[in-house]
Amino acid sequence: MNFELTEDQILIKRMIQDFAQNEIKPHAKALETSHQFPKDLLIKLADLGILGMSIPPEYGGIKTDALSLMITLEEISRALPSLSVIVSVHSCLFSQAILQFGTDKQKEKFLPKAAKGELLGAFALTEPGAGSDIHGLNTKAEKKGDMYVLNGTKAWVTTGSDALAYILFAVTENQKDKKRLSAFIVEKDSPNLQISRIEEKMGIHASITAEIILEDCLIPAENLLGEEGKGASIALHCLDGSRVGIAAQAVGLSQRALDEAVTYAKQREAFGKTIDNFQAVQFMIADMATQIESARMLTYRAANLLDRGIPVSKEASMAKLYASEAANKIAYLALQIHGGYGYSKEFTVEQLYRDARVLTLYEGTSEIQRLVISRHLLRE
Ligand SMILES: Cc1cc2nc3c(=O)[nH]c(=O)nc-3n(C[C@H](O)[C@H](O)[C@H](O)COP(=O)(O)OP(=O)(O)OC[C@H]3O[C@@H](n4cnc5c(N)ncnc54)[C@H](O)[C@@H]3O)c2cc1C
Repeated sequence: MNFELTEDQILIKRMIQDFAQNEIKPHAKALETSHQFPKDLLIKLADLGILGMSIPPEYGGIKTDALSLMITLEEISRALPSLSVIVSVHSCLFSQAILQFGTDKQKEKFLPKAAKGELLGAFALTEPGAGSDIHGLNTKAEKKGDMYVLNGTKAWVTTGSDALAYILFAVTENQKDKKRLSAFIVEKDSPNLQISRIEEKMGIHASITAEIILEDCLIPAENLLGEEGKGASIALHCLDGSRVGIAAQAVGLSQRALDEAVTYAKQREAFGKTIDNFQAVQFMIADMATQIESARMLTYRAANLLDRGIPVSKEASMAKLYASEAANKIAYLALQIHGGYGYSKEFTVEQLYRDARVLTLYEGTSEIQRLVISRHLLRE
């Protein structure tokens, strides 16, 4: 087993670290406190090719290996977790879905713009009445001539208001026990599509999350993604890959929490010495670092499987489950090390603590990851 990054991966990691230091970090706090979508940063990331890391050169991207993308998401998250999830959804869900299931025409239409950042993509699966249970979806798509007519509500869509296109899932067949979903590429300017609400969230404020209402929304039939009735398997396949992206986001957030805790512990004095002299604080730091390393290894291993084209469902769920639960514990410990100041908005750990909370929820809750893992184990 080789645990070393390649020269290219090291170069990418350094480039993103420089970008994070010089471009993201100076604006991170202002973006979070003003709930502002990081448009300018996304333009700069697109200029670096980052938004095209999952897109092949023939469609204008710079297609790298999956591990390089995960390292990138990790380092972006270390500076601003909400930016990491925007890039992850765009790359691992939207672009990947079109790349893997799209027609040549769909790829030619959407991927070059996605690679350049001219079009941000989103993924609209969840509805107000159904999140974990995708067979509980109610949005309907009815074929009429060369169009589909969509009716329903999509909830919690990351980048929902800023994306120009969505991979959207709807029911195309609903008979007795049989409910079949299909996937569609829906453009934001489709007739009768409305951004109905922006969620007021606990954290990741620079990532804007929207509700979308479709009332007789018309899309061309050629925007069907993959075969009709195959939507559930398309959604689950895409989520397998993107859960590794969320694990990477968790690792980056955790690393930042540790960075902040170590810096603070070396400066803060109590009982005549800096608090890093207390074994209780040292042990918290040791536990945080050990969990980060474990989460990183699971994440990189899942990315390695993606690169080798090996089914990754179980390993992606393991990485997402462990890294997201660990991020919450690590953010808790980092805040604890800051004492009362950790509870102040003046210190970054307060934001990280809130941002960490969503990691065990989106792209499948921890309970759903455990279901996926245990099903694999009991089937094997
Ligand atoms: C900030 C944010 C951004 C999001 N972005 C997107 C996005 O871009 N696109 C998108 O489609 N969705 C998005 N989501 C939605 C997210 O994926 C769902 O919230 C998540 O899948 C859980 O669904 P739910 O909220 O309906 O919870 P529910 O499914 O109602 O679950 C409620 C509780 O019941 C548990 N539960 C449910 N079923 C089972 C079971 N079978 N066994 C054990 N426990 C179970 C869950 O684990 C959870 O604890 C986002 C959510 C948030 C908070």
